[in-house]
Amino acid sequence: MRFASLGSGSEGNALVVEAPASASHPSGCRLLVDCGFGVRDAEQRLQRAGIDPATLAAILVTHEHGDHLGGVFALARRHGIAVWASHGTLQSVMTARFDRVVVNVCSSHARFAIGPIEVRPFPVPHDAREPTQFVFDDGRHRLGLLTDTGRSTAHIVDSLSDCDGLVMECNHDEAMLEASDYPYPLKRRIRGDYGHLSNDVAAEIVSKIDRSRLRHVVAAHLSRTNNTSDLARAALASATGWAPERIVVADQSDGCAWQDLAL
Ligand SMILES: [Zn+2]
Ligand SMILES: [Zn+2]
Repeated sequence: MRFASLGSGSEGNALVVEAPASASHPSGCRLLVDCGFGVRDAEQRLQRAGIDPATLAAILVTHEHGDHLGGVFALARRHGIAVWASHGTLQSVMTARFDRVVVNVCSSHARFAIGPIEVRPFPVPHDAREPTQFVFDDGRHRLGLLTDTGRSTAHIVDSLSDCDGLVMECNHDEAMLEASDYPYPLKRRIRGDYGHLSNDVAAEIVSKIDRSRLRHVVAAHLSRTNNTSDLARAALASATGWAPERIVVADQSDGCAWQDLAL
C-alpha cells in the first residue's frame, strides 16, 4: 500500500491511498480521503500524482469543514466516484449536493471494505457534527490518519497503534499560536478540546502508540502562521527517536510525494 498527500492545510486537504494490484483488482485500488480543493485544482493535483480521477474507487470524507468537503461532491459527480461519510457529516450537507452521486453512510465505529482495503473509522473530538478519522489496512500494511482533532483520547491511541505509516496533524506550535495576532476566540477554538492538534500533543500521541511496525510518518495540516516544518519535524522526531529528516511534511501547495509502506 502507498499514499500521497495532494495538499494539506486550512486551505484544502486530500490524501490518496492505493492498494497494489492483486488477482481481484488487477489495476490496484485507490481511494481519496477528503477533497477541499475545487474540481479543476483537484484534477491537477491528482494528475501530478499520476492518478486518473475516474479510477478512484471512493472518496471518504472525515468531516464537513470546507477544507475537507469543499470539492468532494463536484469531483464525485464528474467522475462517477462513490462517497462515504458518517451520518453526522452527511447531515450537515445540503441534500441538493447529493444529486447524481452515490452516497454511503459509514458508522464511525464499524469497519468496512472498499475493494481490498479495509477501512477502520474512529471518532475524534473536533468541532464538527460527527468527525471521523480512518485507519486503512490492505492485509499487509496499515496506514493511520489523524487530522482535525482537538485532543488525545485513549481510543485514538488504540486506533493508531500498530500502523506502518501515520499521517499526523501538527497544526500549531503552542507558543507561536499564543504570540500570534489571531483574535482570542480563534486562538481558544484552535487550542481547545474540539480544535486542532499542537506539535506537542501530536508527539504525545505518537509516543504512546505501539510503534513496532512504524516506518513512515508524515506531518500534516500545518498552520502557515503558527507553525514551521522544522518545529513539526522536531516534535515527531523526538516522539519516534528518528532523525528529523526522516519525518515528511505535507504542505499546502504540494502535499507530499508517494510514501510506499512496503519500503
Ligand atoms: Zn481541516
Ligand atoms: Zn476541521
